Amino acid sequence: MKGLIYDIQRFAIHDGPGIRTLIYMKGCPLRCLWCSSPHTQKKSPEILYLESNCKGCLSCVEACPEKAIKLSDNEKITIDRNICNTCGQCVETCPNDALRLVGKQITVEELFQDVMKDNPFYRRSKGGVTVGGGEPTMQHEFVANFLKKCKETYIHAAIETCGYAKWESLENILDYVDLLYFDIKHMDSNIHKKITGISNEIILENARKASKLKPLIIRIPLIPDINDSEENILKTAGFAAELGENLLWIELLPYHKFGIVTYEQLGREYELKDVEPPSEEHMKKLKALVESCGVKAQIGG
Ligand code: SF4
Ligand code: SF4
Repeated sequence: MKGLIYDIQRFAIHDGPGIRTLIYMKGCPLRCLWCSSPHTQKKSPEILYLESNCKGCLSCVEACPEKAIKLSDNEKITIDRNICNTCGQCVETCPNDALRLVGKQITVEELFQDVMKDNPFYRRSKGGVTVGGGEPTMQHEFVANFLKKCKETYIHAAIETCGYAKWESLENILDYVDLLYFDIKHMDSNIHKKITGISNEIILENARKASKLKPLIIRIPLIPDINDSEENILKTAGFAAELGENLLWIELLPYHKFGIVTYEQLGREYELKDVEPPSEEHMKKLKALVESCGVKAQIGG
């Protein structure tokens, strides 16, 4: 069985206890306006174009069998992504590392052998693996099979989910999970649909069901003027407070713009260019609001 991953990041100290290996799956059903990893959204490989590395040598234009690459007025290239079939020939031809193919097929066994290299660090630090994305439930059979092997080897396993999935898909993975990071973006379903493309009923229902089975941490990305109103934070904290003793705490993640460069590399527009990160004072105020509902909170992951 193969899965499509974007990346494997080693020696991480967030996203779970101890030293961890983070596995980023490719494919996500949401299209959050602020997404900082747009290259994980599509459930298929993609080409990134790093314009600053490009010397305009045109080797890629000649190499492309689909004629998807053209020279633009500023001596750089443009890729017609409707024509590109991600064959990767341009990437191999480019002498300047200006093109990258993201999205790698990997078997469960290959991924497991790879993470096992870090097993001594997991043992010493009580760490493990965290599967995020993208969205792990979009490849639930692959993720469940991988985490089953981790569990059989006593490696701590966590996932981060946007929560939008058939319950059976999430449940399938949860069997092998020790800790769940569950993202909640907005409590108002209409606004949720506007800012992510999807309404929130299934997400909230899955959070309720998952909280009966596994310890979970709720994560709220705080995007100024989009979901950081006191009303929305109080409603989210109130919802969390009803999840029972499996809820560990809420993490408030301040908005950042680190993903902008990736939108450029994908030839996509970033809609929130003018939005600035929230102030420290505002974050502290929202943290205090969450705590006023009897829920533990922290700023950052
Ligand atoms: S990946 Fe293949 S089809 Fe796409 S631009 Fe490169 S050479 Fe052309
Ligand atoms: S081969 Fe690389 S350096 Fe040359 S034009 Fe294409 S992207 Fe730019």
